[in-house]
Amino acid sequence: MIPAPFDYEVADTVEHAVALLGEREDAKLLAGGHSLIPLLRLRVARPMLLVDLGRVESLSYVRDAGDKIAIGALTRHHDVHTAPLLQEHCPLVSYTAGLIGDPQVRHRGTIGGSLAHGDPASDMPAILLALDGEVDIVGPDGVRTVTAADFFRGVFETAAGPHDVVTEIRVPKLTADHGWSYLKFRHRSQDWATVGAAVVAKRSNGGAAEAAISLVNMGATPLRATAAETALVAGEADPAAVAAEGTEPPSDTSGTADYRRHLARILVRRAVAEALAS
Ligand code: FAD
Repeated sequence: MIPAPFDYEVADTVEHAVALLGEREDAKLLAGGHSLIPLLRLRVARPMLLVDLGRVESLSYVRDAGDKIAIGALTRHHDVHTAPLLQEHCPLVSYTAGLIGDPQVRHRGTIGGSLAHGDPASDMPAILLALDGEVDIVGPDGVRTVTAADFFRGVFETAAGPHDVVTEIRVPKLTADHGWSYLKFRHRSQDWATVGAAVVAKRSNGGAAEAAISLVNMGATPLRATAAETALVAGEADPAAVAAEGTEPPSDTSGTADYRRHLARILVRRAVAEALAS
């Protein structure tokens, strides 16, 4: 379908983007366009103004930030996947970026767009949650920092409001005693995850002294599998048995809610084994 008519403005800076967004009732930011353009074409989204952030080159970077790695919101999935700093210090992020969509999607889609879109089927939100990452948001009142746990609010709903721009994402540097895994089940290669499971574990004596486990597509937002995390750290025989506790997965053409709960248990079991062995 052809999108409904809209005006188009190019933002020169983040502040310019915030000002343009504030000028019109129904304005939308455009980054890589790989989630927004399909919604426009289906007329699910009908903004009156598109504010193109794509030329703000200062938002595209991967930098060392002490005990964290800082990633500019406009960094494309391909550049996240191939960034040496991430490959060395937080390979869970670079590895996962390489699993998003196909090469065309990875060369256009951005990490900021992926997070701000708030799709519970997207990969990177669950990764940020497992890493306890944080997000900088610039709005009319200045900059604020939001933790991953507070960022995702509902389906297509995040802490970034209609006049806000996500500018930077920070993830911790993992140390040699951290193991990690991300496993994604999909019916066809290059599809979104029917279910995904991420594990970050601080290894100790064959088990885990600390663990974070997050799930993709098991509720309205990415979720932490807290019962499984507790069971893993307590050294229980099969922490994955409780991986679906507290989840509310959707039923759709990719699978029923029960099938997704089954997948979550299988993926967490395999991801825990991979994280502890890595
Ligand atoms: P856009 O489409 O430009 O914007 C998406 C939304 O976020 C809009 O509402 C926009 O206003 C808002 N936004 C964008 N940037 C910002 C910002 N900096 N601050 C505030 N708001 C912002 N994703 C996956 O995770 N896994 C997949 O397997 C996957 N497969 C895909 C396959 C296909 C065929 C396609 C088309 C997409 C796929 N995607 C997948 C989605 C892809 O990763 C998108 O690029 C991403 O979700 C959105 O990023 P974008 O830069 O394209 O954002």
